Amino acid sequence: MCELACSLEKASEFNPRKSLIKVTLVGMPEIPVPLLLDTCDYCQGDPECVKFCAPEALLWKEMKEAPVRPPVSRAKDIAEAWFASVNR
Ligand code: SF4
Repeated sequence: MCELACSLEKASEFNPRKSLIKVTLVGMPEIPVPLLLDTCDYCQGDPECVKFCAPEALLWKEMKEAPVRPPVSRAKDIAEAWFASVNR
Protein backbone atom coordinates (compact mmCIF):
# COMPACT_ATOMS: atom_id res chain seq x y z
CA MET A 1 0.00 0.00 0.00
CA CYS A 2 2.83 2.44 0.80
CA GLU A 3 4.46 1.77 -2.57
CA LEU A 4 1.17 2.36 -4.37
CA ALA A 5 0.41 5.52 -2.39
CA CYS A 6 3.86 6.92 -3.15
CA SER A 7 3.76 6.13 -6.85
CA LEU A 8 0.35 7.78 -7.15
CA GLU A 9 1.59 10.86 -5.30
CA LYS A 10 4.91 11.18 -7.13
CA ALA A 11 4.27 9.62 -10.55
CA SER A 12 0.48 9.95 -10.83
CA GLU A 13 0.05 6.24 -11.38
CA PHE A 14 -0.27 3.04 -9.38
CA ASN A 15 3.12 1.56 -10.18
CA PRO A 16 5.32 0.25 -7.35
CA ARG A 17 8.35 0.50 -9.66
CA LYS A 18 7.97 4.28 -9.53
CA SER A 19 7.61 4.39 -5.75
CA LEU A 20 10.24 6.11 -3.61
CA ILE A 21 9.67 3.60 -0.84
CA LYS A 22 10.64 -0.04 -1.35
CA VAL A 23 9.49 -2.92 0.79
CA THR A 24 12.12 -5.63 1.12
CA LEU A 25 11.13 -9.07 2.36
CA VAL A 26 13.58 -10.48 4.87
CA GLY A 27 13.88 -13.74 6.77
CA MET A 28 11.62 -16.76 7.04
CA PRO A 29 8.77 -16.22 7.61
CA GLU A 30 9.28 -13.13 5.48
CA ILE A 31 9.10 -9.79 7.27
CA PRO A 32 8.38 -6.71 5.11
CA VAL A 33 10.90 -3.93 5.82
CA PRO A 34 10.24 -0.49 4.23
CA LEU A 35 13.19 1.58 2.96
CA LEU A 36 13.16 5.10 1.49
CA LEU A 37 15.03 6.07 -1.67
CA ASP A 38 17.28 9.12 -1.67
CA THR A 39 14.78 10.97 -3.81
CA CYS A 40 12.06 10.80 -1.16
CA ASP A 41 11.29 14.34 -0.01
CA TYR A 42 9.01 13.20 2.84
CA CYS A 43 6.16 14.70 0.81
CA GLN A 44 7.12 18.09 2.25
CA GLY A 45 6.19 16.91 5.74
CA ASP A 46 2.90 15.21 4.87
CA PRO A 47 3.93 11.69 3.79
CA GLU A 48 1.36 9.80 1.74
CA CYS A 49 2.96 6.43 2.44
CA VAL A 50 2.37 6.82 6.19
CA LYS A 51 -1.33 7.59 5.69
CA PHE A 52 -1.91 4.31 3.88
CA CYS A 53 0.21 2.04 6.05
CA ALA A 54 -2.58 -0.05 7.60
CA PRO A 55 -0.29 -2.07 9.93
CA GLU A 56 1.29 1.20 11.15
CA ALA A 57 4.78 0.03 10.26
CA LEU A 58 5.55 3.60 9.18
CA LEU A 59 5.56 6.51 11.60
CA TRP A 60 6.10 10.20 10.97
CA LYS A 61 7.77 12.56 13.38
CA GLU A 62 9.24 16.01 12.90
CA MET A 63 13.03 16.15 12.60
CA LYS A 64 15.43 19.08 12.59
CA GLU A 65 17.16 17.65 9.54
CA ALA A 66 16.74 14.65 7.28
CA PRO A 67 18.63 11.56 8.43
CA VAL A 68 21.42 10.13 6.31
CA ARG A 69 20.07 7.36 4.13
CA PRO A 70 22.13 4.40 3.03
CA PRO A 71 22.27 3.46 -0.66
CA VAL A 72 19.36 1.33 -1.77
CA SER A 73 21.86 -1.27 -2.98
CA ARG A 74 22.44 -1.98 0.72
CA ALA A 75 18.73 -2.36 1.46
CA LYS A 76 18.68 -6.11 1.80
CA ASP A 77 21.80 -6.19 4.02
CA ILE A 78 20.35 -3.49 6.29
CA ALA A 79 16.99 -5.19 6.50
CA GLU A 80 18.63 -8.54 7.32
CA ALA A 81 20.78 -6.91 10.03
CA TRP A 82 17.67 -5.34 11.55
CA PHE A 83 15.84 -8.67 11.39
CA ALA A 84 18.74 -10.43 13.10
CA SER A 85 18.86 -7.76 15.84
CA VAL A 86 15.21 -8.19 16.77
CA ASN A 87 15.39 -11.99 16.72
CA ARG A 88 18.23 -12.51 19.20
S1 SF4 B 1 7.32 10.28 2.16
FE1 SF4 B 1 8.73 9.62 0.54
S2 SF4 B 1 8.30 7.43 0.25
FE2 SF4 B 1 6.58 8.31 1.38
S3 SF4 B 1 5.06 8.85 -0.17
FE3 SF4 B 1 6.31 10.67 0.20
S4 SF4 B 1 7.95 10.58 -1.31
FE4 SF4 B 1 7.03 8.55 -1.19
